[in-house]
Amino acid sequence: MVIKLFEIEDIFTLKGEMEDFKSGKDYTVSSPLHYEFSLKRSKDRIKLKGLIECVVSLTCSRCLDEFGYLINARFDLDLVSQAKAPVTQEIELKRDEMDVYYYEGEELELEPLINEEIMLNIPIKPLCRESCKGLCSVCGKNQNYEQCHCNRDVDTLLGEKLKNFLT
Ligand SMILES: [Zn+2]
Ligand SMILES: [Zn+2]
Repeated sequence: MVIKLFEIEDIFTLKGEMEDFKSGKDYTVSSPLHYEFSLKRSKDRIKLKGLIECVVSLTCSRCLDEFGYLINARFDLDLVSQAKAPVTQEIELKRDEMDVYYYEGEELELEPLINEEIMLNIPIKPLCRESCKGLCSVCGKNQNYEQCHCNRDVDTLLGEKLKNFLT
């Protein structure tokens, strides 16, 4: 999906749902993707306010189960033409400022921007739940479903006894 930026004279809004957003390599979008964009021309740049809502399917970093994670991203960006950007080195610096987004040409492609916003909202270590017990380091069983009786438990027991002994 493309927004023709040169056609924006003052304010432009766009709202809708994408049924099959192309997922990134670190996530899969498992619901329709709802988006709202409002763009406003202001001197040399375009101010963008955005909202993205969807469910992504992530892999729990502890138990490796897939789970649905709700993305609800609101963001403000300044769209600046790549052509108006200063020399290369400075672009690199400015890219660190999350609120400036450089676009090429006269059109803004929404998919890469949406992808970026989804990535920003995915936790570095996703957890299916705060209390996820993870996998047993001995037998590999998912401890959320099945409590195994590996030595690992003995270790924990010993550790606890030791702790009681020491305190
Ligand atoms: Zn988990
Ligand atoms: Zn086990």
